[in-house]
Amino acid sequence: MPANDPGKNAAPPLPEPLRVPVADSHTHLDMQSGTVEETLAKAASVGVTTVVQVGCDLKGSRWAAETAAAHDAVHATVALHPNEAPRIVLGDPDGWSRQGAREAGGDAALDEALAEIDRLAALPQVKGVGETGLDHFRTGEEGKEAQERSFRAHIEIAKRHGKTLVIHDRDAHADVLRVLKEEGAPERTVFHCYSGDAEMAEICARAGYYMSFAGNVTFKNAQNLRDALAVAPLELVLVETDAPFLTPAPYRGRPNAPYLVPVTVRAMAAVRGIDEDALATALGANTARAFGY
Ligand SMILES: [Zn+2]
Ligand SMILES: [Zn+2]
Repeated sequence: MPANDPGKNAAPPLPEPLRVPVADSHTHLDMQSGTVEETLAKAASVGVTTVVQVGCDLKGSRWAAETAAAHDAVHATVALHPNEAPRIVLGDPDGWSRQGAREAGGDAALDEALAEIDRLAALPQVKGVGETGLDHFRTGEEGKEAQERSFRAHIEIAKRHGKTLVIHDRDAHADVLRVLKEEGAPERTVFHCYSGDAEMAEICARAGYYMSFAGNVTFKNAQNLRDALAVAPLELVLVETDAPFLTPAPYRGRPNAPYLVPVTVRAMAAVRGIDEDALATALGANTARAFGY
């Protein structure tokens, strides 16, 4: 393909529809192009009939709750992302979101933001609290304390409201597992974009944590993820896009959206050596059970 081929950044083609409907267990519709209606219709046309819309900051969490209230096919989760919490406390003029300079708000500002997450978490269309957790990749040493304090607060909120906890764990496996153990995990806990190895999958399995696999399970260099998927109990496995990120192969680098879930489902079925319909049936039931809808 020529280097200037416009197809390189274009939306990937519609995959063959799944015969058994599944849910995208983790997506960010507010970061994707097109209207919510268009995105949901396109996804439904290939058998992705439900999505879990994940909030990452106050604005995104309010939007997730509103969108879930307006669409039966959408369930919401609300949280301050692990990289957001330190920004609220410390301020971050040149952070990952590139939203420009922010006033450092200190601990009181984090408490205020958490109180709003707590209020949103009580809403019936909000099924989960997250994505929360730890990110040692993007947040440096100076933000670790705020990040862990925020994670612990989210765990407490999820438990008090009986909602599902959605974990973001980037380069922080041991610390995430430690904090969950110290606080006591909620009844339903999901590791989104599962990134551990087979050994960690066994630890998650024993604890009853769900493992949600994203498009990166299809990447050539991700044998550790496929090894984890191969040993994870089927009843704890979910699928997600994390769209617009992590577009599955062979469309890596192009925009991701919920309608591409079938590409990842087929790759996962091959890893597990099971029939696509059998996997889709399990994924559909698992996601409903994981989020209590
Ligand atoms: Zn994440
Ligand atoms: Zn996400």
